[in-house]
Amino acid sequence: MLQTIKKIGVLTSGGDAPGMNAAIRSVVRACAFHDIKCYGIYRGYEGMIDGDFVEMDARSVKGIINKGGTVLKSARSNKFRTKEGRQIAYDKLREAGIDAFVVIGGDGSFTGAMIFNQEFNFPVMGIPGTIDNDIYGTTHTLGYDTALNTVVDVIDKIRDTASSHNRLFFIEVMGRDVGHIALNVGIGAGAEEILIPEEDLGLDRLVESLRRSKASGKSSSIVIVAEGDKIGKSVFELKDYVDENMAEYEVRVSVLGHMQRGGSPSCFDRVLASRMGVKAVESLITGKSNYMVGIKNDVMDLTPFDQAVKGKSKINMELLRVSDIMSI
Ligand code: ATP
Repeated sequence: MLQTIKKIGVLTSGGDAPGMNAAIRSVVRACAFHDIKCYGIYRGYEGMIDGDFVEMDARSVKGIINKGGTVLKSARSNKFRTKEGRQIAYDKLREAGIDAFVVIGGDGSFTGAMIFNQEFNFPVMGIPGTIDNDIYGTTHTLGYDTALNTVVDVIDKIRDTASSHNRLFFIEVMGRDVGHIALNVGIGAGAEEILIPEEDLGLDRLVESLRRSKASGKSSSIVIVAEGDKIGKSVFELKDYVDENMAEYEVRVSVLGHMQRGGSPSCFDRVLASRMGVKAVESLITGKSNYMVGIKNDVMDLTPFDQAVKGKSKINMELLRVSDIMSI
């Protein structure tokens, strides 16, 4: 029998990403549209354990669609990793009469939701919010498009100084396991080389390629390095190696860090967040649970949590080829 859902909780968990606020707004408004009460859960699973809930209505999410970060705050909760912690969270949700929740976060947050669902048969739905785009089951995670635009903008600025001084810049961007950001911003900003975890270029080939660029008349170069790059060296070690082997360049390093996560979400992320929130709420209403909402070929889609968590998000190999051709 279909369990009637009357109160849905929404939380943001793990690292924040632009578009999380737009997704909160969408969940709250989709609930209001379907006459379901909605509760914001502060500070991710930590706030769930503390019973830190606030009732939200359509008006309480005004003016947040364009804001970065998350108005509900985010957290990493070690207590939620324990059975006792999850039991307290369950009791707090029941006390507040919450029948289901939507978690906006990454694969860790989905793993937590999946375990919670198994233990308490509690309806859960996930929205992927992470700039790395490293989640299986969706071509885009929330915040990814914004991060690409933020990073391209910064690289354009760095290029101004690189070309004024014959410099070679190593720019480290986020991407521990997957090179989506590096590959796309590398092409978008016209980088000479892109180093990503999926492909081990090797130091000698890197130097060889930079020499070729120099010989072909380039006076400055930009190399984009994903933080999880497999050459196995930190971006500073790469600099030292090139310094030793290419005296003709003045080498500089720029590690972009957390600024990549900030800023106002792009239009794409706002629309995606709005669609994902509606899909999450309407899926819960129709009795679905334990899925992540995603987008594929511009159509909203559901992927079971276990697949979303275990599966690997893959880079588009055609982009690698395009990047090679562009850096001739
Ligand atoms: P990001 O992509 O930014 O790392 P994430 O959602 O993967 O986001 P995590 O820190 O891995 O971030 O997970 C967020 C929270 O989810 C954890 O702090 C913890 O409370 C919960 N969580 C993660 N893994 C588990 C697990 N195996 N069991 C229970 N809870 C978990």
